[in-house]
Amino acid sequence: MPGDESLIIVMQTTADRSDVEHVLERLADIGAEAHVSEGSRRTVIGVIGDRAQVQQLPWEAFPGVERAVPVLKPFKFVSRDFQAEDTVVDVGTTPVGGGHFAAIAGPCAVESRELLFASAEAVMKAGANILRGDAFKPRTSPYSFQGLGEAGLELLAEAREQFGLPFVVEVVDPRDVPLVVGYADMIRVGTRNMANFPLLSELGKQPKPVMLKRGFTATIEEWLNAAEYIYKEGNHNIVLCERGIRTFETSTRNTLDISAVPVIKGLSHLPIIVDPSHSGGKRELVIPLARAAVAVGADGFMVDVHPAPETALVDGPQAILPSEFEVMMDQARALGAAMGLGI
Ligand code: PEP
Ligand code: MN
Repeated sequence: MPGDESLIIVMQTTADRSDVEHVLERLADIGAEAHVSEGSRRTVIGVIGDRAQVQQLPWEAFPGVERAVPVLKPFKFVSRDFQAEDTVVDVGTTPVGGGHFAAIAGPCAVESRELLFASAEAVMKAGANILRGDAFKPRTSPYSFQGLGEAGLELLAEAREQFGLPFVVEVVDPRDVPLVVGYADMIRVGTRNMANFPLLSELGKQPKPVMLKRGFTATIEEWLNAAEYIYKEGNHNIVLCERGIRTFETSTRNTLDISAVPVIKGLSHLPIIVDPSHSGGKRELVIPLARAAVAVGADGFMVDVHPAPETALVDGPQAILPSEFEVMMDQARALGAAMGLGI
């Protein structure tokens, strides 16, 4: 907002709890918004408040404060300036980010118990640590299969019990958020909803981690601003997912912007994964793009795996077979080992 100032107050490594409380009290007095990030070595306080008031206080004279730095970027709390250390997001029992690799796989949509369980069992055996599968499918055509709804969520919860895999599922409508929160381990925002700000704010107010896919026409800055909407409401567990952008190129469904991974790593502390299925849109591109994701330093990948892609109700042409997923995981592990990463 005009007239607002954002500032990062970096505490000294020797600062104690009462020093932090003192700063927070003064911020509350002037009505500023504060987010505290406790790193392993020091605490950092992100502040947004009225410029005149924020600038008036001599922050560096407060006990325990090392420095106060203005943040010039439009996104604040998701930036590396605010938090130097990588965020690690716990998705059920699976940590993601900061050296923990997410291998997310499963069918594009939950179609039936049989198909979901066949896919879940296969990806679990091949080494996936998070299951995907959607109950609500926003499709380009309103006449295409739209998902099983709550029945799909119940099947995903059963699969979690049976195969020990936490799951991620997309939510499309802000009114479905309370329902999905009751089931999912992570909630996904699809590319078409990246800039659906009421949905982002709703997800910022609930306790489950959020995977935020990049809008297919969004710049990296717009994407990080979307993440800021979620963060600002209090939910700091956000995983970004690069899924390709629309370019003039027509040989692929979207152009995977692989450079987004190191760019985001420089700009933000949030984990970033890659979706090689929805970006390429073709089965034969999935494994090469997944290798690229590992090599470029992504914190994970998410792929569509289907036991019978030719019968899939959604995205059959880009789904890989369980046997192909095994190959993909073997290659990811080999590349990870060469890079000193445990996958
Ligand atoms: C998906 O992951 O199933 C999906 C629909 O992806 P996107 O929103 O990136 O198109
Ligand atoms: Mn899909």
